[in-house]
Amino acid sequence: MCGIFAVTECAQAADVVRAGLLALQHRGQESSGIVSSDGEKLHAKAGMGLVWDVFPSFASELLPGRAAAGHVRYSTAGESLLKNAQPLMFGGRHGALAIAHNGNFTNAVALRRELEAKGAIFQSSTDSEVAVHLMARRGPPLERAFIESLRRIEGAYSLILFTPGRVLAARDPLGFRPLVLGRLGRGFVLASETAALDAVKASLVREIDPGEVLILEKGRVRSLKPFAVKKIPARCVFEHVYFARPDSQVFGRNVQAARREMGRQLAREMGGVRADIVVPVPDSGVSAALGFSDVSGVPFEMALVRNHYVTRTFIKPTQTQRESSAAMKLFPVAEALRARRVVLVDDSIVRGTTSRLIVRRVREAGAREIHMAVASPPIVSPCHYGINTPLAKELIAAERKVEAVRKFLEADSLHYLSLGGLLKAAGGSAGEEGFCSGCFTGRYPAPVPADEAGSDRR
Ligand code: 5GP
Ligand code: MG
Repeated sequence: MCGIFAVTECAQAADVVRAGLLALQHRGQESSGIVSSDGEKLHAKAGMGLVWDVFPSFASELLPGRAAAGHVRYSTAGESLLKNAQPLMFGGRHGALAIAHNGNFTNAVALRRELEAKGAIFQSSTDSEVAVHLMARRGPPLERAFIESLRRIEGAYSLILFTPGRVLAARDPLGFRPLVLGRLGRGFVLASETAALDAVKASLVREIDPGEVLILEKGRVRSLKPFAVKKIPARCVFEHVYFARPDSQVFGRNVQAARREMGRQLAREMGGVRADIVVPVPDSGVSAALGFSDVSGVPFEMALVRNHYVTRTFIKPTQTQRESSAAMKLFPVAEALRARRVVLVDDSIVRGTTSRLIVRRVREAGAREIHMAVASPPIVSPCHYGINTPLAKELIAAERKVEAVRKFLEADSLHYLSLGGLLKAAGGSAGEEGFCSGCFTGRYPAPVPADEAGSDRR
């Protein structure tokens, strides 16, 4: 998972990109990068860490020009390296260009082998670089080379291709990952989420369609529809469950509203709830817990406190590291929990590590009963399209029945939202169709990698 952002026709464009990336920081904390164009040359800086670390002050002093693009990268277990920090920069027959990618090319390993056999020398271990090598094998015009390279790529992508004079954007034909177009003064903005448009005071023009390619040049935007698009898209429902910011509109639906509805639906599905308080696992469980409280009538209580200075518990490479950083992150308010019957609400359970720790803490704080309510179905299968869910063997629900997961979590009861309920909540008035829910079903809408071990998922 990653966040991407670009702006054109704008003074100090790199500063605007920095502000946009700050609003997308939740989509990736491993590395941050910005590339700008002064009209002739590209200027770039990327580094490991948060936007605030890599760009502590204005970026435009170093990165001049009226167009810029940026990327925040999501941590994966293995390849946490500077050489993979995007935007990746290249020179070749199409001139200087940079690429910023959110998603995962599922046939990247096969394509990379094929390209390497023909002599390609890769500078990173990302799947994203494959697109550039494919482009370099074709002559101008640039947009045709870009589109022809995308024709060979399978899987999920929202992409920005940045050149000195033009910015291209593309969304894969199934529309897995979000991407929106905005307006800022005389220029345009591209962003993974609308929250980043708001952060720079750009107005939302529209979502980029699945299978659409945009060309931003000289203050104008051109739209191409070069792919045969399946009627029903496969938008990632996990964006609504966990990933996106509550203040964003994702796939045309406000994320907070979707999450609150997930919580409401979960309470409906559970029927009458006998409990004293509804407690969210912050921050990701808050919206669903509000909805759960709406419907059940059980009062909402912030009885778990999050230390905001401890970050990135989920993506630590080893289980011991994950457990110790999770242990420093969430703390119970004993006064609120003592002798209470508690419904604990979280958005999802992945490995079960955090959830078990929290259940233990809430019990130690004196809770009388702990009912775990999860605002999405059991995650049973890995994501191949850009969410860093672990391999099946690390997923607590992959091979266990709900009762076995409950035992593992040491909860008094465990309730998951149904898939139908989730899709209804995520779709809102638009309905339940058109989502990828592969992580909950193991049914994948696009081919998955033949050689899973070799791919660099994000
Ligand atoms: P678990 O109890 O399964 O170890 O962790 C569940 C928690 O992980 C939930 O609170 C959920 O919000 C969070 N989570 C789910 N998916 C992701 C992800 O892709 N990245 C991060 N950082 N956290 C996640
Ligand atoms: Mg969480």
